[in-house]
Amino acid sequence: MSDKDVTEVVLADAAGIARAAKILESGGLVAVPTETVYGLAARADSPDAVARIYAAKGRPDFNPLIVHIRDEDQARRYAVWDTSAEAAVMIHWPGPLTVVVPALPDAALAKAVTAGLDTVALRCPAHPVMRALLEQVDFPLAAPSANRSGFISPTTAQHVLETLDGKVDLVLDGGPAAQGVESTILAIRDGGVWEELRPGPVDLDALHRHYFETGLPQKIHSDPADDRVEAPGQLASHYAPGKPVRLDVQKVAPDEFSIGFGRWAGDCTLSSAGMLEEAAANLYECLHLAAASDKPRIAVAPVPDTGIGRAINDRLRRAAAPAD
Ligand code: AMP
Ligand code: MG
Repeated sequence: MSDKDVTEVVLADAAGIARAAKILESGGLVAVPTETVYGLAARADSPDAVARIYAAKGRPDFNPLIVHIRDEDQARRYAVWDTSAEAAVMIHWPGPLTVVVPALPDAALAKAVTAGLDTVALRCPAHPVMRALLEQVDFPLAAPSANRSGFISPTTAQHVLETLDGKVDLVLDGGPAAQGVESTILAIRDGGVWEELRPGPVDLDALHRHYFETGLPQKIHSDPADDRVEAPGQLASHYAPGKPVRLDVQKVAPDEFSIGFGRWAGDCTLSSAGMLEEAAANLYECLHLAAASDKPRIAVAPVPDTGIGRAINDRLRRAAAPAD
């Protein structure tokens, strides 16, 4: 579609999902609700459709896409799927966990999906709308977050329109995303070694403890000093609201839009009860409000760095990092 075209927004009911499946089949772009954030989906086996994702987002072409599949059987068509991969997803698929595994050399995927890497990122999502869509099409869906590259991720249909109106064919409105931060990304290395590439709703420490006794996977954290751009969720500046952000703030300045947590109430509060899951679900909505406010700067209250709090703080640090 060209820039002048109108983006249609429809309810994510049976008729909406059927329409989305048709558009995807013919190579179009559809924004789809998932349990993490809204995704910008296209058929992963079509170079033209995948090129449209990069163009609509203004996404750098070295940043590979996550491929969404309906189950492990479908995963086996695209990747080397060994016992370590099976163990990694046993508890959390369908769900907000992405695994990076070796791609099969003859996998029917557009080259741009993996940005030239010999690995592929696979996720089996839990959201009923995304699942229904994956059941109706016979190809997997490449789907990054449905926002301009580098900007705040979308957790509502309205957020999608803020940066992609006129650039996608259809938005399926399925209400606010429940978990609110992007999937945990786990790379499975040679010998079954696990490496966390991006913290998210699935707590890999807990998963690792669960499997520790089996002697199966060992997990290592990625080295923050390592600046390989293997997972550009790792880029220093990302999720950017377009104005300066101060973190761990206990005293807000008058010209700051405040994002509160727990006993620190704000102009927008992540969770007044101090619940991290609720805070994750509200994070991007608060950042969108902060970006749109008249205040020139943003201050964020301290958020504990445990469980999904690690994912929240990871996103906040990148939102606060100066763009280069
Ligand atoms: P987004 O789609 O914006 O949620 O970002 C997807 C994330 O998955 C990015 O950080 C990508 O770099 C990462 N990713 C996708 N494919 C791979 C891969 N083959 N190896 C490592 N990371 C990947
Ligand atoms: Mg993104």
